[in-house]
Amino acid sequence: MAEQVVFHPDILKIPEGGEKPYLVAYKCSCGSAWFPKLPFCPNCWSDKLEPMPLSKTGKLYTYTIVAIPQPGLQAPLAYGFVNFPEGVSVCAQIDVTGDLETIQKALHVDMDVEVTAGVIRKDKDGNETISYRFKPI
Ligand SMILES: [Zn+2]
Repeated sequence: MAEQVVFHPDILKIPEGGEKPYLVAYKCSCGSAWFPKLPFCPNCWSDKLEPMPLSKTGKLYTYTIVAIPQPGLQAPLAYGFVNFPEGVSVCAQIDVTGDLETIQKALHVDMDVEVTAGVIRKDKDGNETISYRFKPI
């Protein structure tokens, strides 16, 4: 029977009760923020990084459309870097479907996107990996 596995539940929080998912970055006492968690702060070398929930929305900094995906995914699909107000950038798949032209029309730099959780891949047995994605709003 196929199963679902949440990829990195330490950085993707999926609240119960219908609240929207959000990401967790890690903030250092020097003020730097990192995503995902690092073993130490590259800015000051401290290993005292504290979890910091990110806003549920961010701005699309840039994106690319993939024509030949990894096995288990259907093309075309889009990936983008999203800037969050807390000062981190996160790369993930973007929830847009259709042909190449449809995806190109649906995305533009600096648009608002929200964090979602969804299937990012299936293995050969049909098991689904759930992770963070972005959705245009
Ligand atoms: Zn630091």
